[in-house]
Amino acid sequence: MPGLFVTGTDTDVGKTAVAAAIARQLVAEGRRVGVYKPVASGVTTMASDAGRLWEAAGRPLTVEQVCPQAFAAPLSPPRAARAEGRGVDEALLRAGVEPWHAASDIVIVEGAGGLFSPAGDRSLNIDLARDLALPLVIVDAARLGAIGRSLMAVAAARVTGLPVVAVVLSHTHPLGGAEDDPASDARIAADSSVDLAARLGGVPVGSLHHAAERITPALDWFTLATTAGRRA
Ligand SMILES: [Mg+2]
Repeated sequence: MPGLFVTGTDTDVGKTAVAAAIARQLVAEGRRVGVYKPVASGVTTMASDAGRLWEAAGRPLTVEQVCPQAFAAPLSPPRAARAEGRGVDEALLRAGVEPWHAASDIVIVEGAGGLFSPAGDRSLNIDLARDLALPLVIVDAARLGAIGRSLMAVAAARVTGLPVVAVVLSHTHPLGGAEDDPASDARIAADSSVDLAARLGGVPVGSLHHAAERITPALDWFTLATTAGRRA
């Protein structure tokens, strides 16, 4: 099953917005899109990651199947689970994707936190990506430092043997300042994606502007997902 594992350089870098934008684009291209969040913490409102992913994919299956394990405390998933006297189900982290296989042409998985953040007591997010055999989309927030953070994440992913098919800089808030001011947030974001692309040698770099529906430039996510294994 083709798929993408959307991960980040850190928590709160705009992963859900990026995963939802990828899902929306694939739906618009006529694909049946599965969306899966193996575990979530800090879940207290209806505007959860799972809900956003589910809406973006056109409400396939049920929102509970998008995220079978959700915990309230804004902590790492294992600690959030413990705060409720529970534990993260390690087997379910992996098996929870199975209902999506029959129902989808491609599945978009959003990790929890960053690439090396814990998903369960034994698994980091990168362990899940490897076990699900999915190539990575690395998301970073479009602010000063994006080049260094993104290159570190790409290098770390490559050390583990996982292919990185794209990096996306996510505008997690409206970026102020004039584009012709080199120190403005808007200019830093634009320059960062150009500089990052030059240093990544063939890995496409996209940007998702705040509240935008689509990632620019438009990337062929289905082809990236299906050819990643051959290029790894
Ligand atoms: Mg998220």
